[in-house]
Amino acid sequence: MCVFCSIIKGDIPSKKVYEDENVLAILDISQATKGHTLVIPKKHFANILEIEYPEYENVMYAVKKVTEKINVVYKPAGFNILNNCNEAAGQTVMHFHVHVIPRYDNNDVKIEFTDHSKEYDLNQIAEDLK
Ligand code: AMP
Ligand code: ZN
Repeated sequence: MCVFCSIIKGDIPSKKVYEDENVLAILDISQATKGHTLVIPKKHFANILEIEYPEYENVMYAVKKVTEKINVVYKPAGFNILNNCNEAAGQTVMHFHVHVIPRYDNNDVKIEFTDHSKEYDLNQIAEDLK
């Protein structure tokens, strides 16, 4: 059984910050910043490609609730709302979850995007993905 299923079952302890019928939110054990929370569907789905729409909508509802709560309590300067899909993208627990990471300053978490747009035909990509 995966680690998040064990947490949901109550076999592994966790710090719960939100719970409803379908969703559990717990403090990430590694706390990238103060209040870093994982929002997890109670039903096991490997990733965003596998999760069904009603469950996904339930998770995203809880993501907003958790974000609003952290915002009121800790008053961060901002948030990163993040999902890693598959090992190639840094997913380590193969049970869909969304990270809510409060940001207190520009340098407390490093998320970098490099501009590669010159290498691609944006018109073609827009056409492909329409
Ligand atoms: P990801 O790399 O997106 O799959 O994120 C998995 C996250 O789960 C990591 O940030 C871990 O710190 C966190 N994590 C792993 N085990 C536990 C646990 N038992 N309780 C809380 N968070 C955990
Ligand atoms: Zn699971």
